[in-house]
Amino acid sequence: MTCKLCKKDRPLVKSHIFPEWLYTPIYDDDDGIFDRGMIMKRDRCTRPEVLYERLFCEECEQRIARWEGYAHDVFFGNDPGLKLEDLGSRFIISGVRYAPFKLFQMSLIWRASISDRPVIYRVDLGPHAERLREMLLQECPGENHRYGSFLLFPSSSLQQRIQDFFGPPERASRKFRGHTAYEGIFGGIVWMFIISNHSEVLPDVMFLSENGQLPFLVIDVPDFESFSETAFAGGEGDG
Ligand SMILES: [Zn+2]
Repeated sequence: MTCKLCKKDRPLVKSHIFPEWLYTPIYDDDDGIFDRGMIMKRDRCTRPEVLYERLFCEECEQRIARWEGYAHDVFFGNDPGLKLEDLGSRFIISGVRYAPFKLFQMSLIWRASISDRPVIYRVDLGPHAERLREMLLQECPGENHRYGSFLLFPSSSLQQRIQDFFGPPERASRKFRGHTAYEGIFGGIVWMFIISNHSEVLPDVMFLSENGQLPFLVIDVPDFESFSETAFAGGEGDG
């Protein structure tokens, strides 16, 4: 069997398509992220069906598991080097290690594109799929905008509506400032994945920075259309 990541002919292991801990909200009912103090905690007993598929060889599975483990540490505040800065309409976690977190984010959208499970929406990344695969295989996170994603954190009222919802990425009905975007709901947070050849024109402030600042924008509505024009200042895309 051919591993989808390294393309070597090896026995494939049964992997989850998305990490199990993203099937439930990563914040507490009452408090929002980190209590607006420090992140998340809950592990519920009931959750949507976790999707498994034989996609990767053991070595590639372990590689992805390392990024997932690190992202879990970030969201659950397990890394003492992390700090939360609350700016009201947005907040920033600083002290995030750039490479593993960026590779984790990239792997989510790429995994959606290689899955054959019918419950995953058809995600066709075209030539970007192979570029993403190579970057993941080489553990090369690239520049922060390159296949970057940004995170939208629900306001308390919105949390009630989306916290039990798990949404694999699907193509957004409208481009984000001219760029193709996919949106998903993981861990009760809306994730926007930018798949574009011209992402460098997007505002840097949207993405995880190479010095480890991870921004979250607080939103009131579950779809990105109503905030996309005003959310981030500056930068117009064309592709
Ligand atoms: Zn492999």
